Amino acid sequence: MKQVDVGALFEAIPDAVVVSDMASRVVYANAAVQRLLGWRPDELIGQSLHVIQPERLHGAHDLAFERYVESGRQTLFDVPIRLPARRSDGTEQDVELNLAEVQDREGRRLIIGVLRDLSERVELERHLEILRYLTATTEAATRLRTTAEPAAMLEVLTDTLAGEFGAALARAWLYETSEKRLRLVSSHGMTRRVAGSSRELIDVATYPYKVGVVARDRRPVILNELRGDPEFDQAWVAEAGLESVACLPMLAGRRLLGVVVAFFRHALTDELSETVSHLVSLAAAAVSDGQLMAQERDARAAADRARGHFEILADVSRELAGSLDPKVTAQAVSDATVPRLADWCIVDLRSGDGVEMVAAAHRDPALTPAVADLRLRYPPPARRRPRHAIMQAMESGMTVVSTVTDRDLGERAVDAAHLALLRRLGIGSHVVVPLAARDRVIGAVSFVRMPERSPFDADEVATAEAVAQRTALAIDNALLYRSAQQAVALRDRFLAVASHELRTPLAIVRGHWELLARRVARWGGAEARPAAIDETIRRLGGGIDQLQRLVEDLLDADRLRGTMRLQMAEFDLVSFVRDIAAGLPHAERRRVKLTLPSDELRGTLDRERLAQVLGNLLGNALKYSPGDAPVEVALSDVGGRARLEVADRGIGIAADQVETIFEPFSRAPNAAPHRGLGLGLSISREIITQMGGRIWARSPGEGRGSTFVLELPLIVEAGPHGD
Ligand code: ADP
Repeated sequence: MKQVDVGALFEAIPDAVVVSDMASRVVYANAAVQRLLGWRPDELIGQSLHVIQPERLHGAHDLAFERYVESGRQTLFDVPIRLPARRSDGTEQDVELNLAEVQDREGRRLIIGVLRDLSERVELERHLEILRYLTATTEAATRLRTTAEPAAMLEVLTDTLAGEFGAALARAWLYETSEKRLRLVSSHGMTRRVAGSSRELIDVATYPYKVGVVARDRRPVILNELRGDPEFDQAWVAEAGLESVACLPMLAGRRLLGVVVAFFRHALTDELSETVSHLVSLAAAAVSDGQLMAQERDARAAADRARGHFEILADVSRELAGSLDPKVTAQAVSDATVPRLADWCIVDLRSGDGVEMVAAAHRDPALTPAVADLRLRYPPPARRRPRHAIMQAMESGMTVVSTVTDRDLGERAVDAAHLALLRRLGIGSHVVVPLAARDRVIGAVSFVRMPERSPFDADEVATAEAVAQRTALAIDNALLYRSAQQAVALRDRFLAVASHELRTPLAIVRGHWELLARRVARWGGAEARPAAIDETIRRLGGGIDQLQRLVEDLLDADRLRGTMRLQMAEFDLVSFVRDIAAGLPHAERRRVKLTLPSDELRGTLDRERLAQVLGNLLGNALKYSPGDAPVEVALSDVGGRARLEVADRGIGIAADQVETIFEPFSRAPNAAPHRGLGLGLSISREIITQMGGRIWARSPGEGRGSTFVLELPLIVEAGPHGD
């Protein structure tokens, strides 16, 4: 080294070279020093090395230099040292310093410092670090989208903060809107404890620390100096070596979703805290999407449930409309609800003090007979306590909802076979709804779910109740219809038998009466007999006539259920009407006013039957009006048809009765004071219809008289209506 020109050598290298003596004074600086630090070499020569050092490092420099001069230990040699240098304009410059000791020609010890510009590298390293954070953030963003669960998203967030961002502790809370509180859902780093942590639930309105403040203000807080901050447990801060904290709200617009806290063992640069905020907002967006998805999923599930409810009800209503048989009705209901609402279903109707099963269905059709078997062999006991659910529902009139465990089954079963049967059918929960109609409980429907299916929720119980309500009405109608039909059939049979049985004795009575009348007539002159005898015989005859007409009506009603034989003949309707009126007893004859065409009105009809109809109409008109009120009979030809009207000023007919009175045995309530069977009009209508005509009634209302009108073709083909 003594032989070479050291100065020329140093000028040639690109790094800055500063040579100092052992008193820390600059003895040489090359031109590169000016490029790096701004100092001209001549400005530095003779100056202390302090000139090119930031003031805060002076103490450390002096200490190290002194130690080296004394000990000669070259601890700082051979390794590059990174430190800031001071430029001539007072700013700092990161440099890498390499040290070496040499001796000059005079044997003086000199220290050579070679300074290399580090600013680009530092910048590069910073870029690399940011890049690493961004990569971690991107990866986290992908992982955030693999789940729809907010809690799982926050796991990803705190995991990334601790693992990739180097947080000593990262924790995240979700905001529970209804409770206005934060719930800790994930924690990574120093502790992973969540449940039972003292910060597990934070009341947002009152919590005094950072997390509460951030939740209330919805603004982030970044602190770089934790030491000495009374808000943090200082023993913990010191022990864990914590230096900074980022506390950030998770927001969707202004809506608070949660809060994230991350503690670091180093300072938070602007870049780092920005990247952390970025990561947190990504997590917030994912949580918000997840919540929206959950809301939509819930809404869709609710809509599906509602649709299911209406589908079941629609099906049940449709099935119910089709039948008037209680068993068919009940079976339709159990079929419509299994398996959608329940896995199996039984419809029971009250019978004595117990019940009788009328329908059953199991989702596995092979098990339906087993359900019937259960009822047959183990009917719900009427009196046992605790009450069987069916008895309970029927007695209280209230729905019974229960979940059933296998142990309950054990307690309920009367023997091993019963238990085996119950297990085979499967009972996890059931809803028993009483069937109530017209304020009576007529039975119960049991909807049962197997243990693997979730129990009935409130909506499903409501569906079950709606189904039962419709079922009850339909079964009640079916039962009513059945008993009405039975009553009608019974009545008809009785009347048919009775009228046939009455006919013979009546004929005998009439025969004897005629004989008696003839004998009495021969018994001297009328004046020779007591007056009462003639009167008695006459009344007796009237009674027999009345009785015979009644029996004939009954027989007619019975016969008319089959076909009627019409005997057609041509005759004049005008004289026909006149004859009928003339045949009435004197008192009644006087009340009847006839309005007849002046000419003949010939028709080909069944004269006997028509006489029966007109007799009936006249009889009614006279019967249902006051004893002195007139009855008007009018005959006319309306376009080739005969029209006959019988009008009275009697009790009249309510509007809702004008049609029903034509049904067999039907009588209007206001006819009650007068005797009658309610058969005449139905027979009349049958006859008139058979002859191709029509008959109807009209009345302005009760107490205001009635008019019965019949219309007939003048020529009736015997064919389709007759034989
Ligand atoms: P009955 O007279 O034996 O009851 P009908 O079949 O002849 O049987 O008549 C049926 C019902 O029609 C009567 O019960 C009555 O309610 C009503 N009705 C019939 N004719 C008249 C009338 N002229 N005025 C008012 N109501 C009548």
